[in-house]
Amino acid sequence: MEERYVPGDFWRCCDVCGLKYRSSQTRKRWDGAWVCLSDYEERHPQDFVRGRKDRQSVPESRPEPTETFVSGSVDVIYAPDAEQVLAPDGDMVVI
Ligand SMILES: [Zn+2]
Repeated sequence: MEERYVPGDFWRCCDVCGLKYRSSQTRKRWDGAWVCLSDYEERHPQDFVRGRKDRQSVPESRPEPTETFVSGSVDVIYAPDAEQVLAPDGDMVVI
């Protein structure tokens, strides 16, 4: 490589390969590194992808209904797995 003086075209080391190039044969990359033309690369488009916020609400919402309780006496307490139920006075009733 001939190293003669060229006005305005100084020498620069590539930040990737470390070889010496004329400044006219280098470019500044997106990350600020000065590189030779063979090491130059564009910034990947995936770097510009941004997330979108999810819209998590339901399309038609209604207020939660107020709870209603049944009052009165309960004759028996039902146990679904048992064949016997317990009456309020403590007696076992066989179904
Ligand atoms: Zn290089």
